[in-house]
Amino acid sequence: MDLLVVGSGFFGLTIAERAAASGLTVTVIDRRDHIGGNAFSEDDPATGIEVHRYGAHLFHTSNPAVWEYVNRFTTFTDYVHRVYTNHKGIVFPLPINLGTINQFFNAAYSPDEAKALVHELAGEFDTKDAANLEEKGIALIGRPLYEAFIRDYTAKQWQTDPKNLPAEVISRLPVRYNYDNRYFNDTWEGLPTDGYTAWIERMADHPNIEVKLSTDFFDESQPFNKRATVGQLPIVYTGPVDRYFDYTEGALSWRTLDFEREVLDVGDFQGTSVMNYADADIPYTRIHEFKHFHPERADRHPADKTIIMREFSRFATREDEPYYPVNTSQDRAGLLAYRELAKGEQDVLFGGRLGTYQYLDMHMAIGSALSMWHNQLA
Ligand code: FAD
Ligand code: UDP
Repeated sequence: MDLLVVGSGFFGLTIAERAAASGLTVTVIDRRDHIGGNAFSEDDPATGIEVHRYGAHLFHTSNPAVWEYVNRFTTFTDYVHRVYTNHKGIVFPLPINLGTINQFFNAAYSPDEAKALVHELAGEFDTKDAANLEEKGIALIGRPLYEAFIRDYTAKQWQTDPKNLPAEVISRLPVRYNYDNRYFNDTWEGLPTDGYTAWIERMADHPNIEVKLSTDFFDESQPFNKRATVGQLPIVYTGPVDRYFDYTEGALSWRTLDFEREVLDVGDFQGTSVMNYADADIPYTRIHEFKHFHPERADRHPADKTIIMREFSRFATREDEPYYPVNTSQDRAGLLAYRELAKGEQDVLFGGRLGTYQYLDMHMAIGSALSMWHNQLA
């Protein structure tokens, strides 16, 4: 074996695939009983509908190298992601656009009129000086829209008052003064035609790659454990960075999600793939309805059944799946300390969402793995 990869998510598999293609022999271990990390999906046995087990995954990128690379393993459908939000029992389009603004104010503002209104409403804060998420939100869209669509949704999602969250969290969410309600701005977007798992399996399908599932790097009863391997061969580690160092610099905080899946005896529950729930009195943040991700599979889907998944958000304990880095100032200090420790680990490279404590979309995980391969491993 020339290389050990810990974690079979997109980061680990990209490294493994590139290494195998260049003639190296790679072992990939994962503590879960399936490959693919959080992008794993499975066909529901009762309905045949593809379910993203760890929450809906939408592929999008503007990076030509990543787009070229992923197309070696899968084609993509022409799915375009759109999200709606329910506020006080009324449905509005997201991200906040002219349609949302006009519906909210019961008006027919032109783009310039809407801009002038928002500018007036947002007067109390400037986007450049916004010190936290609340100030940034108000500076971007004004207090009424912020309170309706952002404040309570964000508080539910992060279990933290938006005044105590960094402004960057909502930088991902654009505000548009036209009726464009595409959720993503990227050049390319779509869902893998044969599903995520088929894509992921093709990445691992190489005679030089051996995948060992249900194998934890910290379990000393299995041969590929940390004590037995570090210093013996190059390792790419994509598990949690604090776990690697036994939490010596403190545990980094994460948000986890609980998903409640339900098969319903209706053909169409909500008419769209993702409906957010903006208000504090609804305990979940959103409902996913998986059928709508693949309209091109309509003839394979049952006409009288659908699968929905409610998403609930809370702080993660060490036993939970870590999904979103919370990134408090204490976390940032801890991360710097772990980065210093990581530099001292002989022949171990830390990558991916958990290994770098960063929110990475799939295209970012793949892009950074390609860079690590070219710059540090190849
Ligand atoms: P992961 O997929 O987390 O893989 C890490 C792997 O390491 C896991 O399989 C884990 O079991 C394994 N591992 C950890 N510790 C050990 C150990 N001790 N021993 C062995 N194995 C171990 N991205 C998008 O582009 N679009 C989306 O719509 C999108 N939606 C998302 C929704 C949710 C709820 C979440 C959580 C993420 C979403 N993402 C989305 C991000 C996407 O999941 C990540 O970009 C991608 O999974 C990153 O891959 P990774 O390899 O870094 O990490
Ligand atoms: N957000 C919000 N209301 C919404 C959707 C998003 O306030 O209806 C804010 C929220 O703070 C969230 C951030 O925008 O954390 C990023 O949203 P996105 O949909 O990108 O989050 P993800 O899908 O990663 O959970």
